[in-house]
Amino acid sequence: MEAHKYKRVLIKISGEALAGDKHFGLNFDVIGPVCDVIKKCNEQGCEIGVVVGGGNFWRGVKDGGGKMERTRADHMGMLATTINALALADALEQRGVPVRVQTAIEMNRIAEPYIRQRATRHLEKGRVVIFGCGTGNPFFSTDTAAVLRAAEIGAEVILLAKNVDGVYDSDPAKNPNAKKYDHLSYMDVLNQGLGVMDTTATSLSMDNHIPILVFALSDPENIYRAVCGEKIGTIVEEEN
Ligand code: UDP
Repeated sequence: MEAHKYKRVLIKISGEALAGDKHFGLNFDVIGPVCDVIKKCNEQGCEIGVVVGGGNFWRGVKDGGGKMERTRADHMGMLATTINALALADALEQRGVPVRVQTAIEMNRIAEPYIRQRATRHLEKGRVVIFGCGTGNPFFSTDTAAVLRAAEIGAEVILLAKNVDGVYDSDPAKNPNAKKYDHLSYMDVLNQGLGVMDTTATSLSMDNHIPILVFALSDPENIYRAVCGEKIGTIVEEEN
C-alpha cells in the first residue's frame, strides 16, 4: 500500500547537513542513512528530486568575501554542490536506487545537463534526480534552485532538510525558551526575517504556491514522515 501523501517532492539538503558533526566535507555516516530513507520513499512510488547545497565545501560570499570576485566565488560554490550531488548519487546507486545527476552548468563527462523534460521523464520512470550547480547563476542560492526546480518539475512540496527541526522565533541553540512554529505564512517569514530560506527563494515559492516543510535531517526517517504527510517540523505555506 502506498503510504505517501505526495506523489512528487523536491528535497533540499544543505551541504552543512551532509557534513553532520564534522561541519566540513562529506560524512558518510549521515549520507548512508539519508539514502536508505530516500530508497524507502522511492520504492513506495514517491517521485523524488533532490537539490543539494555546497556549504560543506564552499559558500561564495562567506568564504570568498572580500578576497575574491563574487561571481568566481559563486562558481566555486556551484562546483561544490556537484561534489555533493555525485556523492549522494553514488550512495543511492550502491543501494540499488536508480538515479541521475543533472547539472545546471554543463559538465557532460560526469553528469547530464539539466533538461526539464528529461528530468520529469526520469521521475516518471522511478529514478531519483539530483540537481547540481544550483540555478547555474551566481548571486543565487541552492534554496532558490530548490524552489525553481520544484516549480519546473511540478513538485507538490519542498522538503527542506536542515540542521534544526523547524523554524523558531529565536535561535534555539542560544535561547532555551525559543518557540518553534508549526505553521507560518510566506509573509510571516518575509516580514519577520525568519531564517527559513533567503528572500529570493521565499518569494519564488510564494509566487508559485509551493509549500515548504522545514525539518531536521538528524533523524533521516523524517524524510519518510514528511513524504507521508505526518506533522513534523514547520510548514510554510499560504494563509488559509
Ligand atoms: N551558488 C550559486 N548559485 C546558485 C546556487 C549556489 O552561485 O544558484 C553558490 C553560492 O556561492 C553558494 C554556494 O554555491 O554559497 C553553495 O550553495 P548554498 O550556500 O546554497 O549551499 P547550502 O547552504 O545549502 O549548503
